[in-house]
Amino acid sequence: MHYPDLSEYSYNLPFGLPGVINVGWLSRSHEFSVGSVSQEAILELEKSVVSRRANQTRGFHICELCDAVKPVRLISASGDERLLGSAELWFPSLGGGPVYVAPDLIAHYVRVHGYAPPDEFIAAVLAARTATKWNPDEERRMRVHAAFVHSADSMQRGGKTPPLGG
Ligand SMILES: [Zn+2]
Repeated sequence: MHYPDLSEYSYNLPFGLPGVINVGWLSRSHEFSVGSVSQEAILELEKSVVSRRANQTRGFHICELCDAVKPVRLISASGDERLLGSAELWFPSLGGGPVYVAPDLIAHYVRVHGYAPPDEFIAAVLAARTATKWNPDEERRMRVHAAFVHSADSMQRGGKTPPLGG
């Protein structure tokens, strides 16, 4: 699944979620920005694969850039092993900014393929270290629910159906 960086998040939804922003949804058929990312940010992204996980699915998305047939394996600094490609990472909004959502493969894209996410995303990832109680799955449920309620309300008032996202 490809989404441009900083587009509105709408994965598996009939509309986008306001204030929720896509980062790192790369595919082989779209160019992406390449550059250096600090080691601190790379390590934090690898930790986030465990701590910021949401919307786990059953299947695995294979890295299209690797031309591999098996899911990507991430070995963390502490030696834990994990398969990537079946969950999202959600990073909270601090100071009124947006919530960022990336596929967990972003940890691999950055380290192995030289992907450079937008600066504002890296800043959010590092700032999010202080938000230890923030629950990504709960945040997703809340925001999806709010968007559906809003959508039902506007249809009842005779408003137009929101455009399909994605
Ligand atoms: Zn790859």
